[in-house]
Amino acid sequence: MKNKAVVKVMPPQGAGSGTTSGIATRMKEVLEMLGEDPSREGLVRTPERYEKAMRYLTSGYSTSLEEIVNGAMFSAKVDSMVIVKDIEFFSMCEHHMLPFFGKMHVAYLPKDKVIGLSKIPRIIDMFARRLQLQERLTQQVAESLIEVVGPRGVGVLCEARHFCMMMRGVEKQHSGTVTSTMLGSFRTNKSTRDEFLSLVGRPV
Ligand SMILES: [Zn+2]
Repeated sequence: MKNKAVVKVMPPQGAGSGTTSGIATRMKEVLEMLGEDPSREGLVRTPERYEKAMRYLTSGYSTSLEEIVNGAMFSAKVDSMVIVKDIEFFSMCEHHMLPFFGKMHVAYLPKDKVIGLSKIPRIIDMFARRLQLQERLTQQVAESLIEVVGPRGVGVLCEARHFCMMMRGVEKQHSGTVTSTMLGSFRTNKSTRDEFLSLVGRPV
């Protein structure tokens, strides 16, 4: 019988559960640069919590459309618009890494298949949990639906408020930003587009 040494590597002090990497260490330096004392009680574990939060808020990078859709596609001869309104989302702007959040309204006109309705909010989350521009987020949601559902058209409307505008800069607390992407029949057919806009309560 061989005598094998068992080597147990303990995480260094302050490295927490071992799930953190250099982000937490660097955040400690950032706190110091901001004039804080990272060793005071309330801040001791903040760098690790920050890293954990940031990893969650950017987890969309490691999620794929295939994983989310995961076979939830159904053949259907549906002639009417499918619409999911008021889907909450939370994202972070890539310019300031500050949150922006709001609602999305997503509609499509099926050709021969439909997607499980619960998948639409999950597709939104996948793109929202990345550093984003509201314009790009809106576009990516619309293009993904074209890719997976192959519909006659897609309309996505996104209403959001940006912390980088509310807390700093222009400090406008009540201004919202609206972006929209219309593809296929939503772009070419005015009555389809108008139906979508009136269903989500926007002026046509
Ligand atoms: Zn910003």
